[in-house]
Amino acid sequence: MNGAARPDGWPPTRPLGNIGCVNDRRLYEQILGITAPWHVEDVELKLDHGQVLIRVEGSASAEICPECGERRPRYDASERRWRHLDTCQYQTILVATVPRIKCEEHGVKQVRVPWAEERSRFTALFEALVIDWLQATENIAAVAKGMRLSWEEVAGIRSRAVTRGMRRRGRAALPGSVGVDETSVTRGHQYITVVNALSEARVLEVIDDRKEESLSSFWNQYSPEELAHVEKVAMDMWPPYIASTHKHLSMADEKIVFDKFHIMKHLGEAVDLVRRAENRQLRAVGDERLAKTRYWWLTHPERLEGEARVRIEAMRHGSLRTARAFRYKEHASRLWGYIRRGMAERLWRQWLHGALRCALEPIRVVARMIRNHWDGVINAATSDITNAMSESVNSHIQRIKKRACGFRSRSRFREAILFHLGGLDLYPTLPSSTHSKA
Ligand SMILES: [Zn+2]
Repeated sequence: MNGAARPDGWPPTRPLGNIGCVNDRRLYEQILGITAPWHVEDVELKLDHGQVLIRVEGSASAEICPECGERRPRYDASERRWRHLDTCQYQTILVATVPRIKCEEHGVKQVRVPWAEERSRFTALFEALVIDWLQATENIAAVAKGMRLSWEEVAGIRSRAVTRGMRRRGRAALPGSVGVDETSVTRGHQYITVVNALSEARVLEVIDDRKEESLSSFWNQYSPEELAHVEKVAMDMWPPYIASTHKHLSMADEKIVFDKFHIMKHLGEAVDLVRRAENRQLRAVGDERLAKTRYWWLTHPERLEGEARVRIEAMRHGSLRTARAFRYKEHASRLWGYIRRGMAERLWRQWLHGALRCALEPIRVVARMIRNHWDGVINAATSDITNAMSESVNSHIQRIKKRACGFRSRSRFREAILFHLGGLDLYPTLPSSTHSKA
């Protein structure tokens, strides 16, 4: 999904073979993509440090201004080091004396090196490998441990990757179907708003807070003509998002979709509220039937196995209040995917008729919510919008949060979401290929 193509020839596929290879200067030039005016001067194996030091030097023609690409006189020089991909389990460090030049126009500047991005302490290939590992594991601590880096170093690589990807992408192209979601950052009261392109399960923007202004700051990037292309906006029944969408989109009543995923989530929560209250009453008289069954009631019966399946089957047709609430939820789960609006309206009215009058307060609360958001619910019941996409983005975000054991800040959470779900081109490029004015 994050199908950002790497520049051609990346990564080099030539194997390093055994330790004898480390003395091969030309091999290293090839692996690192080092060409004139730079060359590998020396390769030193420091067995006691478990390191390979690759010393790179540049000729005078490397002394060009990074801004204008003109040859300029050397001002001074300093030694810099970059961590590179390990060689045969040895930490491999690139060392070079990098000159600063003095340009009449641009002042004193350090020359660019072809193997790393400015100010990075890692070679571009090393950063690319860290990015690959982060994508695979979704866990900074695991990558840090595996690659012998600090947590901050890995977080820094991820942060730069997202900045790079967002800079390359610029403003997101506005899709026909937009999903808007809020999610909490920690257990506290910090929230973010996630805007995604529904048909691609790709996150477009992550915005602080879940206020009307939060979503409006997204719409505000676009002209009224551009906004006119939006046909559907899937969201939770959250008044600030509804208000923002009404302000920015014409005929918003026809476009807002309170998608199935959210409505079913509310019903699932209602079932659990009923269960918790009933469980307390039952346990008071020694009845443990509902204890530790939260998950069972939230799962489709056919996905349960063994004892859970047997017990839930026995209960769900019975007279427990939890079972009655569950049946309202199950009934609602079948009221989606209609082609004709009239049909959807009729069947949802039937459902509402019972749900609004039932003795289960949490179900009545959801029923009133559905009645008060009627258009958006019927839009959802007759929409071809793919709820699965919205759900997959949402569950992926929850997984990221869980793996990270929560986030200390909204900006870190934002970075993680955009890194994994932004569909961004995250990899560093070799500056020599982007800066060929000279
Ligand atoms: Zn210059």
